[in-house]
Amino acid sequence: MRYISTRGTAPVLGFGEAMMTGLARDGGLYVPETVPEFSHAEIAALAGAPYEEVAFKVMRPYLGGFFTDDEFRGLIAKAYEGFHHAARAPLVQLGSNHFLLELFHGPTLAFKDFAMQLIGQMMQAALARTGERITIVGATSGDTGSAAMEAFRGLANVDVFILFPHGRVSEVQRRQMTTPSEANVHALAIDGDFDDAQARVKDMFNDFAFRDGVRLAGVNSINWARVLAQVVYYFYAATALGAPHRAVGFTVPTGNFGDIFAGYIARRMGLPIDRLVIATNQNDILDRALRLGEYRTDGVRPSISPSMDIQVSSNFERALFDAYGRDGAAVAALMGELKAGGFRISQGALEMLRGTFASGRCSEDETLAVIARHYRTTGELLCPHSAVGVKVAEEHVGLAPMITLATAHPAKFPDAVERATGVRPGLPPHMADLFGRAERVTRVPNDLGALQALVRERVARR
Ligand SMILES: *Cc1c(COP(=O)(O)O)cnc(C)c1O
Repeated sequence: MRYISTRGTAPVLGFGEAMMTGLARDGGLYVPETVPEFSHAEIAALAGAPYEEVAFKVMRPYLGGFFTDDEFRGLIAKAYEGFHHAARAPLVQLGSNHFLLELFHGPTLAFKDFAMQLIGQMMQAALARTGERITIVGATSGDTGSAAMEAFRGLANVDVFILFPHGRVSEVQRRQMTTPSEANVHALAIDGDFDDAQARVKDMFNDFAFRDGVRLAGVNSINWARVLAQVVYYFYAATALGAPHRAVGFTVPTGNFGDIFAGYIARRMGLPIDRLVIATNQNDILDRALRLGEYRTDGVRPSISPSMDIQVSSNFERALFDAYGRDGAAVAALMGELKAGGFRISQGALEMLRGTFASGRCSEDETLAVIARHYRTTGELLCPHSAVGVKVAEEHVGLAPMITLATAHPAKFPDAVERATGVRPGLPPHMADLFGRAERVTRVPNDLGALQALVRERVARR
């Protein structure tokens, strides 16, 4: 299996290199050259299998032999053993034809753990072969950062720097990033929003002297291995509800477009997904793009679902690459226009995108109303991101079962949940002392040079 860049000029890589590289050297994102298709019988055989077995079968064709089968099974087992639910991703029924896929039973209580725990295991195994050291730098809207720190803390040959927007993550999210005591993890609060943090990380990758000097590696959702790990739960949930014998739909609370892009890959692999619905909060650039045919940024408005407060959805570039007939030069030109504010999507590409994705948005008031109604009718608390998904899904439920991805645990966003219901969700036992732990964080300016100096200095000190 070979991986090519969405901008067409970076070197073609194998799985291991694509995983360790993150962002391609031409500024693009790596995608598999071809997507393997599963037969009806192969998909049917996944029904009822343990999560780890589904993970092995779905991901194996993408590895190109980088890990042996035994090695890969071992890494998968370790990645998910720390989850606090035997099913890993349990399904809960919400209505006659509507289900919730709970993806928040991992160690940091958001779906990011599914990919991050596995990539942590895979990178460790790859580094152990060569004795190499790497520096991971990532931007987070709140949940990626804690998941990355949890996956890599304490490792001898990895330093992890996480940039999060100062004052724009929930207190639980912040504390999850600032309280790990290991010397190899570094929480950096940047003066800016998530898009600024993500842009500075991309700048660091595009500075090749810096990139090679500190051996930069990325674990943001631009990393193909993360998308791949998320493809698994689409197969797991769909086969539990009757696929491949019947089709299902998915609604995905969307920010950086990584999670829903994994659903798109699952569909291309042959999983019968009849609707793939993008759910956005008031930062609705993706919903507008699909409706109006124009991808144009207009500033982030902080919301009660902060992990989706994003304008520039990195992984949308992967969808555009396919929509533009895999023309890297065309994608590179669009991304240039985006830097100047936005672009109009061509008619052909728009038709492809509209044929593939549906979309909807959910306002702040609607988010609170869904959390309140859900609590009244079921006694269960929804996190605000999952509530955005539920609201949009309800507008799209049809004959096929609809599965809404519940992306985080309500206790990560207690203020919003309490505002909606009057009930403050408690942290699960393994995190009960979070508010008593000491915090360690460095406030940093939105300035590339200053950030690079800090990273160099801390890496040299270790
Ligand atoms: C990251 C995140 C999202 C958005 O996922 P993308 O892959 O960036 O689209 C939604 N909800 C929660 C809780 C998240 O942490």
